[in-house]
Amino acid sequence: MEVVKLFNISFEFFPPKSNEGMNQLLETACLLEQCHPHFFSVTFGAGGSSRAGTIESVKMLQQHTKVAVAPHLACIGSDRGEILEILECYRSLGVQRIVALRGDLPSGMVQCGDFHYASQLISFIREVEGNRLHIEVAAYPEFHPQAVSAFDDVLNLKRKYDAGANSAITQYFFNPDAYFYYLDDCERYGIHLPIIPGIMPITQFHKLARFSDLCGAEIPYWIRKRLEAYGDDVESIKAFGIEVVSDLCQKLIGGGAPGLHFYTLNKAEAVLQILGNLKITPSRKKYAALQTVP
Ligand code: FAD
Repeated sequence: MEVVKLFNISFEFFPPKSNEGMNQLLETACLLEQCHPHFFSVTFGAGGSSRAGTIESVKMLQQHTKVAVAPHLACIGSDRGEILEILECYRSLGVQRIVALRGDLPSGMVQCGDFHYASQLISFIREVEGNRLHIEVAAYPEFHPQAVSAFDDVLNLKRKYDAGANSAITQYFFNPDAYFYYLDDCERYGIHLPIIPGIMPITQFHKLARFSDLCGAEIPYWIRKRLEAYGDDVESIKAFGIEVVSDLCQKLIGGGAPGLHFYTLNKAEAVLQILGNLKITPSRKKYAALQTVP
């Protein structure tokens, strides 16, 4: 029997700090809108540092595109009142999906506020909003750097699932096996959530290496060595990066991933090239809606 499976693509942005950045975000969003994404998401600085910027970006995307917008909400450093205010604001904007996170305490901030973990934020959102919101959470196929152990980190996704999460987006990774093993673990732990791979296009080396070291995402040795060897040859880095990430996406789709979530860094070019390699292009109408699986 033929199974028809929903396959969704989504794009993540960060809130720009300047008018110029906001214009660039708008341009990127309009280009990516043509790929009929399931939603756009906008990151949030833990401790409330980007609160105004996130809300402003959400409003701008709602005003200028027809794509549903999912704000991220990170709870660390905030109290219940502050989170409540933000939820009320999103309710008034008609937001129906949220990415609920713990976040990391900004440097210099010592008080973690009323929430220690994302699972507590999810419980709070369910308490306040009932089932009105679709809640996305973070998942870590290569495990969160602060996790007590690999399996405790899978258990943490179970805690978020039990608290009311509807689906998960992963930290980026470059080794598809990490994702498939993680899915097996989740099934064993009774976590029945769509787990969408987070995809980071490779367009440069040093920043990616620094950030990957911080967030515990492994750049496989052979990829790291090649990127290093390209030095300042930006075009070669981009060409190689697009090939590697397109190949990763192909393996993920082939293995049954329920969608792809792109960390765009507010730029469309690399994402569009990867989608083009996957034959997912703006010219194909509603390309992402249905995928037929034999
Ligand atoms: P949690 O799920 O709370 O987990 C954090 C750590 O605590 C893990 O190691 C977990 O194993 C451990 N843990 C959880 N509960 C318990 C418990 N009861 N006992 C013991 N250990 C426990 N950050 C931002 O600041 N803003 C963003 O917009 C943002 N967007 C993101 C989007 C995605 C898709 C992803 C994958 C990450 C994002 N992040 C963002 C980064 C994220 O906030 C950090 O990775 C953060 O360190 C963990 O957040 P979390 O929601 O996964 O936390």
